[in-house]
Amino acid sequence: MTTFGPDYVRAIAPYQGGKPISEVAREFGLDEAAIVKLASNENPLGMPASAKAAMQQAFGELARYPDANGFDLKAAIVAKFDVPADWITLGNGSNDILELAARALVKAGESVVYSQYSFAVYPLATQAVGARAIVVPATDFGHDLDAMAAAIAADTKLVFVANPNNPTGTFIDGERIAAFLAKVLPQVVVVLDEAYTEYLPADKRYDALGWVRSHPNLIVSRTFSKAYGLAGLRVGFGIAQPALTDLLNRIRQPFNVNSLAQAAAVAALGDEDYLRRSADLNADGYRQITAAFGAMDIEFVPSYGNFVLFRAGSDDAAGARVNLALLRRGIIVRPVGNYGLPQWLRVSIGLPHENAAFIDALKAVLA
Ligand SMILES: *Cc1c(COP(=O)(O)O)cnc(C)c1O
Repeated sequence: MTTFGPDYVRAIAPYQGGKPISEVAREFGLDEAAIVKLASNENPLGMPASAKAAMQQAFGELARYPDANGFDLKAAIVAKFDVPADWITLGNGSNDILELAARALVKAGESVVYSQYSFAVYPLATQAVGARAIVVPATDFGHDLDAMAAAIAADTKLVFVANPNNPTGTFIDGERIAAFLAKVLPQVVVVLDEAYTEYLPADKRYDALGWVRSHPNLIVSRTFSKAYGLAGLRVGFGIAQPALTDLLNRIRQPFNVNSLAQAAAVAALGDEDYLRRSADLNADGYRQITAAFGAMDIEFVPSYGNFVLFRAGSDDAAGARVNLALLRRGIIVRPVGNYGLPQWLRVSIGLPHENAAFIDALKAVLA
């Protein structure tokens, strides 16, 4: 039989996303309106009204290509984060930034370091360029930065660090990240993936953009998909010094962020009220869900994101079994067997009534 493409592409296990509501409705004969989706860490508030208005304004110009340089969005990022415009790479989601980093920096056969249980896109981006993954065992479900620093090989070009991490929700203190950055050789690039940084309480914040100033080998990635509520539009950005930013921009698609996404992101960046409501709602929902886990004696990993990893049972079929039982009741959560966590499930934090529906269903399923 004819095979196409390189071995390393054929070996890629496709990304498994959260099941769409429409698919669960079809498969289980349920009414779409009765289904609660807590599977993809989306913002349960829905997109910001400010972003919707900005998109409506932009509709009239859709026959034209987007601004390839994203002038307005970069200007908004410059204003909000106090970084120069030539430090910014816009991405079709921050997923795009992660892939651009792998494609720009790593050749087939070279290595990429990331942690066990870290974000699923790191293996995908690594394998897509034919690179070798050095997967460092996690400690307490989180990154072991000392072991990661020690694992960097002579041919390592890139290290991915997610903080907070998905799917485990673990967080690394700023001091430990700073110590790690100080150890990494200048020719090895670190991507610090901060998809959930807007959810961090004030006492956990650190100045990652200050580290970009002192480390020419650091890329910080951020997204509009989580706290900014724009997952469907696909927009994110990377911040790095000009040499790295220039490389990423050489290989990105010229029009990788569409016009509606650019307009919406500008509005969302300025919508402090929406951002605060998102973080507050998330903190309340986290308390609601973890209190129920406590009452039900369910083990969970303390989370700094907008989701919680919990143990569905003590056998390796538990995650799949409880997931299926929840689906039958119209609750969509995320199985994490593909992460090597078959006993666990990840639930995104939703609106209070969605969290309650999840808790009720879980009680019934485990009874
Ligand atoms: C959700 C997520 C992203 C980014 O998603 P995009 O929608 O592509 O911006 C990046 N990293 C982690 C760890 C995530 O969980």
